[in-house]
Amino acid sequence: MSNTSYLFYQNRTPRPFLDYGEGIYLFDENGKRYIDGSSGAMVSNIGHSNPRVLTKIKAQMDRATFGYRLHFRTHPSEDLAAKTVSLMPDGLDRVFFVSGGSEAVESSVKLARQYALTQGQTNRHKVISRFPSYHGCTLGALDLTGYDPLRDPFASMMQGMPKIAAPATYLDRDNLTEDQRGLKYAELLRDKILELGAETVLAFIMEPVGGASTGALVAPDSYYARIREICNEFGVLLIYDEVMTGAGRTGKFLAAEHWGITPDIVAMSKGFGAGYAPLGAIVAGADLVDPVLDAGGFLHGFTYAGNPMACAAGLAVLEEMEEQNIVENAALMGEVLMVQLRRLMARYPFIGDVRGKGLLTAFEFVSDRDTMDPLPSNLNAYDRLVELCYERGLIIYSRRTRGGTSGDHFLLAPPLIITQDQIAEMMAILREALDAFATEAGLALWEDAA
Ligand code: PLP
Repeated sequence: MSNTSYLFYQNRTPRPFLDYGEGIYLFDENGKRYIDGSSGAMVSNIGHSNPRVLTKIKAQMDRATFGYRLHFRTHPSEDLAAKTVSLMPDGLDRVFFVSGGSEAVESSVKLARQYALTQGQTNRHKVISRFPSYHGCTLGALDLTGYDPLRDPFASMMQGMPKIAAPATYLDRDNLTEDQRGLKYAELLRDKILELGAETVLAFIMEPVGGASTGALVAPDSYYARIREICNEFGVLLIYDEVMTGAGRTGKFLAAEHWGITPDIVAMSKGFGAGYAPLGAIVAGADLVDPVLDAGGFLHGFTYAGNPMACAAGLAVLEEMEEQNIVENAALMGEVLMVQLRRLMARYPFIGDVRGKGLLTAFEFVSDRDTMDPLPSNLNAYDRLVELCYERGLIIYSRRTRGGTSGDHFLLAPPLIITQDQIAEMMAILREALDAFATEAGLALWEDAA
């Protein structure tokens, strides 16, 4: 086996060859086993190599792998669209398929824009998003992303879409209740719309539970309804980026359900194809889509969108989720995991916050729980702990918290099929890695009973 690689991705971190996956586990070619504690990049929601899903994909592959959507309707795409609509809040009944999350975000924004044009609102073109946030890496989606290291090199190529602060209330040191804080952060949207001129604002896009760039940030309950109200007040479309949170990750099919919100457009990917196919979708109401189609059509589309192979995979994934009660398991196991993560705070003073919803959970390192100052950047904690876990057979996912320049958070987001025993197994490895990190970084530990 040659060590030369002609491939390149983000960096040169050497990794072993993947051999196979099974459930929550991945095995490399040396026979080493890894718990996939982040479902890859929060993708493999139903676990790896599910035989029932593979059989269904194979059955479609035997008939046709590709049929271009402008030449044929296909049953997998129609059936997946119908299934998807059945899982949405009332009123979200039109589906447009894509192959990934950035494509879903781009598509949402372009649909919003074309809808505004049909309403004669030609001035509406600004899309407000939050900082920090992650909405994708293509230039349009990147412009909505609030994560400096990824944006900075390309800033001059983008128009600089407006941002408001993400509701990181765990950093606030005020006398407000959580509900009051939620409202305070929501008002930032209203202020921004007024500042920009409501007639220029097309949409507001948010991750209902934060993903990579905030580390599973959950806003106070009051935030969600108030944001919906503000969007209604100004005719600003509300886009929920559920690329990471959708398809059961947070213990409901959509995270929006936790707060009873119906966004105008939902973007999904990751768990929607669950690693069985590059797949994503946007879902909107006919009231938004029909005017666009009546006015001549949606001027947008990707070659692979709606291909029967990916749609058969997506349909098989959703059926498996339903048949095995996987979303319910995510809710239950999310609670188990959260309790265990909170317990870590009794031993590791440098864990400053634990947060999340369902099986989208995270913990954040700080140098001081009172000030919530991050650890010194040169410790590269976000990188080191991931490596220490990896060596021990646990895959977790990390990023810099405070806009990408400092702070360290770690996402634990295992496949939604995980069991209580497997969570215990994962936590044991995590503790070993945290101990090793503390020793290496010269950080104090507390003796805890757990
Ligand atoms: N939106 C969110 C919330 C995401 O988490 C991601 C990926 O991490 C994306 C969009 C972009 O998805 P993709 O990497 O599939 O283009």
